[in-house]
Amino acid sequence: MLPEQLPTCIFGHKNWRPGGAQLGPGYDQEWFSCHDCGLTALYLSEDGGNLFLILQQLDGDQLTKEISTWLNDTLRVFWRANAAELKKVRDAIETVYWDRACEAVGVPLKTPWHKVPKDKLKRFQEIGGKYTEISEWHKPRGIDLSPIPPKLPVGVTCFILKGRDGDRFNWKWVSHEETAQIEVPPDPVRVRHDAYFSEVFETIRKELGIEFVPEEVPNCYCGFKAQPWFQFKIGENTFVVGPRKRVVAILVASQSGLATDEIRKVALDEDNVTYSPNGKWHGTDAVASTLEVHAWTKEKLIQYLMILGKASLPVLAI
Ligand SMILES: [Zn+2]
Repeated sequence: MLPEQLPTCIFGHKNWRPGGAQLGPGYDQEWFSCHDCGLTALYLSEDGGNLFLILQQLDGDQLTKEISTWLNDTLRVFWRANAAELKKVRDAIETVYWDRACEAVGVPLKTPWHKVPKDKLKRFQEIGGKYTEISEWHKPRGIDLSPIPPKLPVGVTCFILKGRDGDRFNWKWVSHEETAQIEVPPDPVRVRHDAYFSEVFETIRKELGIEFVPEEVPNCYCGFKAQPWFQFKIGENTFVVGPRKRVVAILVASQSGLATDEIRKVALDEDNVTYSPNGKWHGTDAVASTLEVHAWTKEKLIQYLMILGKASLPVLAI
């Protein structure tokens, strides 16, 4: 974004100076300051939207807590949901062209491009890549690529970029009244997270024939609010389960001691994953008052929880 392409500052100055940028795939964050009055501005663009913010208040040279909270908890959730809708439409269109390309060169449908024979690859890519010529792919109906953001904080002036005519950028000023009326949709990250864990917990309930109600606890690993951990009890033992980078961590605390024979056999001997009874990495203690084990797939998570769940249930006297 060139400074001359931006809207004027709130005092009518047209003298933005660039002040650093972070660019990534589908991500653009550029800082500017007004050379005449010193106001700071921020241009942000992601797959789900874009905006230019003029900030009347800063905390030193940092964003105020209110604004950074709004950016992370409101704007990004809103954009993620919009981007997920956009991706759905685009994926469907791309699949059609992918299938056409597979048919045209005579490989099974859904063949990944790196498995297409070399002599057929050029034609495959020509046909498969034609979706970029489809206007519906660029601007799907019913999806606003520059939506009005919800709940804009006070003290922030906001413009969204609605497109461009040649060199002229078409900025739309956003009023606080209209942004107040926009609702924040459910975060797609949270929706996926909840679906994953409810399926796992439902399986455990059914297979073990027990009831438990998982209670949300903060994600102790990355602190990502949209992916909380869950705590629940099986028998007398307390379980905490949640994502940790690419694995799901299972933590068990047991006052009376948890028998580890079964879980050790699977997690340590067969799978060789992170396994720590009583805080000892790859320990072989037969009884644990605390245990941590990491599952790499949903199937493994269910398997470990089943073993640990069974080991936590009181043994019935016959
Ligand atoms: Zn100014």
